[in-house]
Amino acid sequence: MTPPAASAGATAIDQRRSLWLATTPLPPVTTVLEGRADADVIVVGAGYTGLCCSLALSEAGRAVILLEASGIGHGASGRNGGQVIPGLKHDPDELVARFGRERGETLVQLVGGAADRVFALIAKYQIDCAAARCGWIQPAHSAAAAQKIIERTRQWRTRRAPVELLTRDRLASLLGTDSYGAGWIDRRAGALQPLAYARGLARVAMGHGARIHTESPALRIVRENETWVVTTPRGEARARQVALATDAYSGALWPELAANQLVVTSVQVATDPLPEPLRRAILPGGAVASDTRNLLHYFRLDADGRFVIGGRGSVTATVPESAFAALQRSAAELYPGLAGTQWPYRWYGRVGITRDGLPHLAEVAPGVWTALGYCGRGVAMATTMGLVLADVLNGGRLPAYPVAALKPIPLHTLRRPLLRTAIAYYRVRDAISQAYRGRRP
Ligand SMILES: Cc1cc2nc3c(=O)[nH]c(=O)nc-3n(C[C@H](O)[C@H](O)[C@H](O)COP(=O)(O)OP(=O)(O)OC[C@H]3O[C@@H](n4cnc5c(N)ncnc54)[C@H](O)[C@@H]3O)c2cc1C
Repeated sequence: MTPPAASAGATAIDQRRSLWLATTPLPPVTTVLEGRADADVIVVGAGYTGLCCSLALSEAGRAVILLEASGIGHGASGRNGGQVIPGLKHDPDELVARFGRERGETLVQLVGGAADRVFALIAKYQIDCAAARCGWIQPAHSAAAAQKIIERTRQWRTRRAPVELLTRDRLASLLGTDSYGAGWIDRRAGALQPLAYARGLARVAMGHGARIHTESPALRIVRENETWVVTTPRGEARARQVALATDAYSGALWPELAANQLVVTSVQVATDPLPEPLRRAILPGGAVASDTRNLLHYFRLDADGRFVIGGRGSVTATVPESAFAALQRSAAELYPGLAGTQWPYRWYGRVGITRDGLPHLAEVAPGVWTALGYCGRGVAMATTMGLVLADVLNGGRLPAYPVAALKPIPLHTLRRPLLRTAIAYYRVRDAISQAYRGRRP
């Protein structure tokens, strides 16, 4: 398929040139919500959080209506890098220090098993999404980051995770580049086609009875006695419980959700399938990778040998042409064989970042729950939190993830200028520490 030509200057928010859209199975047939519908639970948002929540609830026999403003996987779940990475940005000992030994270790187990949960779901339901348990390499971009990685590896090894510190030569041979001096590999991790995964989850949830209504934005939520009434342009859904799974795509529906996180845009570009010799030279170990920069680069090959690279971009809804060009330059720096390659695919999406760098689970009103704020680690964690949400909504059990009230980020209205300043600052810091590339341990 030939993607449409690029528009000059800022690119409108759309998915026209997304690699994942071009290479995904068709979505299941869904309808717009028309008229009144009743359920046990209304889920808002058809990303991994909402889909996994709906799947688990309907599998447990609950009547579920899932409302999606656009199409299945329209948000980050259909646009991400497809890197299935367990754990959070916080290392295990940090979680234990923060939540105490018992709760902390339970949490470490939950997040450490997040990739297992994704691959188990895919295997159980035979989801066709090019899933591969190929491992994730995190190369360090600076001496300080290399130290952190040594400690990170130690902490996970103590907990018997299949992770390994990589010598300089081994790292270079697994990555196919000597651009980094240190790194580790986490073999719990892997890759998938993100939109295909979302569409597959939807198909399974519908198979269990979940009613998914696309092009059905939830416009208003009001309480009538014990029932929540969610209004869409052409209908109205009613249920006693609601799960808000709108993450970085949260709008005005429940303003607390958007105010609880900062949103940045992450940008990706991809090649056509590479010629065999080049394909074999890039990430020959088969793993996916994302580095330790503040404004990180993440890169991989897709199932057909296309090179895909992404990075944090703008703080606005549009992405300047220069952001795509910068990624292409970075790719050619990492892998000089890519110089002059065509990049027919480019797309982007929104990432929600919380103040404490942790996803948040909260009950925002009686019977209305949300999970959000995956800070760029949502393929495995949104899957996990969707299942946690379902558990909570299914009754009574102490949630496996800590519950905390949402708090607006201070100065949220000034977020764009502040984020712009932060991004400029981190760009400089990353550039300075990159001098480390020449001084590998
Ligand atoms: C470019 C990019 C690359 C990334 N790469 C990775 C990666 O490689 N690995 C990783 O682990 N994580 C990655 N992430 C993060 C990960 O994709 C997200 O954390 C995860 O997909 C969030 O899932 P979600 O279901 O919570 O939200 P989303 O998938 O964003 O879904 C929210 C949905 O809510 C819908 N919605 C919003 N408002 C309404 C409304 N009023 N009514 C109805 N529906 C509504 C939206 O249309 C959307 O479909 C990346 C994110 C981006 C953007």
